[in-house]
Formats: sequence, structure tokens, C-alpha cells
Amino acid sequence: MDITLRDYLAAADSIQNNVIKANMRAEDLSRDMISLRTGIKMIQAVAKKMADVSNMIQQVIDYSNHQYTRIDPYPRSDSHAVVRYLYPEEERPVSYTHANIKLNVKSVRDTPDIPTSALYYIKDLDQFAVNINGVVIKGNVGNVADYGSERTAWCEYGTCCKAFQNAIQGRSASQGSSADKSAKESAKENAKESARPKSNFACHYYHPPEDYIRAGAPIEKYHEAHRNFTAGSWITANTLNAKKQSKHFMRHIGSLDTLASDLHTMQKRQYHDEVATREDQLMHDLLIYMILIRNGYVERYRE
Ligand SMILES: [Zn+2]
Repeated sequence: MDITLRDYLAAADSIQNNVIKANMRAEDLSRDMISLRTGIKMIQAVAKKMADVSNMIQQVIDYSNHQYTRIDPYPRSDSHAVVRYLYPEEERPVSYTHANIKLNVKSVRDTPDIPTSALYYIKDLDQFAVNINGVVIKGNVGNVADYGSERTAWCEYGTCCKAFQNAIQGRSASQGSSADKSAKESAKENAKESARPKSNFACHYYHPPEDYIRAGAPIEKYHEAHRNFTAGSWITANTLNAKKQSKHFMRHIGSLDTLASDLHTMQKRQYHDEVATREDQLMHDLLIYMILIRNGYVERYRE
């Protein structure tokens, strides 16, 4: 705590100069890197404490002014030392020409003001995920395949799908009656049984991992059964003169100039499948983009 911010800055400048000028050895570089990261953690801890206190004071000020702006006084450990607000902090139209279509945002002055978010992987579900404004978007990378290919659409039967019933019946037959067992014992056995791969589970359509868990089917089966997409599901139907039938699996919202009327159509016709597909495609596209970055195809983040 005796080190000032000026000292940290001087140390960073000195290390940077050494890296530029000298041909440094790997162990010296890693020593300098650890020293920098230690300094960063120290500054972040101080900034977090300041943000925590600032949030609490803001709430007191708002209370005394009778302005209930819903400020969260308890930043979590993953709040990145940022003064934290509950959403919506602010509403913004998606564009100046579409004032009525708004999103909840947190405004910042410049790009570096945005805290870094991790790309998450949920082990229990075998899915990648992000959380934006409290909305969790989950999914995996899938194949882009022909119409009618395996798992290019959600199974409408959910956990009642015959494929799950077959798997469960198969388990009951191998296990015998469990009526006389305690709930704890059968739960234990079910868990053991769930961990064992089953060969008789098969459905032509896509099931999210939650279906496997709720139906008591082995989640391992989901590893080979990620969602796939038809190539046409990225095409917006409004821009084509296609026949009604083929339009069904395309997008019916997405172009800025028709957002308002498209939204109205979505309300009227309830495109459940399309909305679910959007989430799946969003994560598929995000993961493909992150793969491009990881492999050095995005200039700004070349490794
Ligand atoms: Zn099914």
C-alpha cells in the first residue's frame, strides 16, 4: 500500500522500454509480467472497494432525494470493480430513425470503459453461455445442413418425447421395481444409471440439455446431439419472393427498416421456433467468431 499510482506507472514504463530495447530472456519477462499483474490486482482491489462505497452512498443520496433509481449497493465479486446499477439503467432507441424500438443499456464514454466479460461454459449442461442484461444466452456450435437434416429443429414433445421414454423404460427393465426403496436410494441409483451411456436414445429433432436432465436421460448423449441449423434459417423471408411453405424456417424479423411491423407480426403469429432458433444461432455465430479470433483471423486480437 506504500506504492503510489505514479510508482506503478513508472514500473510499467520501465518494463515496456526494456521489452522494446532488449532481447530479454523468458524468465525475466515472466518475472516482469507477474510483477505487473500483482500491481493490477492491487489497484483493482482498491477500485472495487471505492466502487462498493460509491454504490452505497449513491443509494443513500437517492433515498434522501426520494429518487428511487434502483441502484444495487452490493456489487458481486465478478462486478469488475465497476459502479454497478440494476437494469434498466437507461433506455436507448436502436437507431435515431427508429425512436420507438428501445433497448436497455449502460452508457459509457469510450470502448475501454466496458468491463471484460468471460465466455462461460456450463459443465452440467455442456453449453457455452453469456449473460447480458441478466439474459442468459446459451448454446453450442452446430452443423449448417440441408432442410430435414438431423436436429435442425426443436423437438415439439420435449421431455415427453418417445426417445426419452424408451431410454427410461430400458432403465426400469434393467433395474426392476424400485417402489420399496427410499427416495434417496432411488435418486442415487438414478444418478448412477444416468451416468451410464444408453444406446437406445435417438430423436431426429433437437432437445436442449435440460430435457435430458428432466427426463432422467444421460447428459452424455447430448455431447453428440448439439443443435444443427438449415442454411436457409439465416435468410430473412421478407426479402425473398419465396413460397409460404419454404418461408416457415426462415427469419421473419431482422431488418431495421421493417422492425416495427415485423415485431407486430411476431406477436400475432407467435414464432416460438424462430425465437428459440435465434438464441441457438446467436451462440453458434458468437462461438464461430471467437474461434476466428483464437486462430488469428481478427486483426485487432491477433495472438
Ligand atoms: Zn424428440
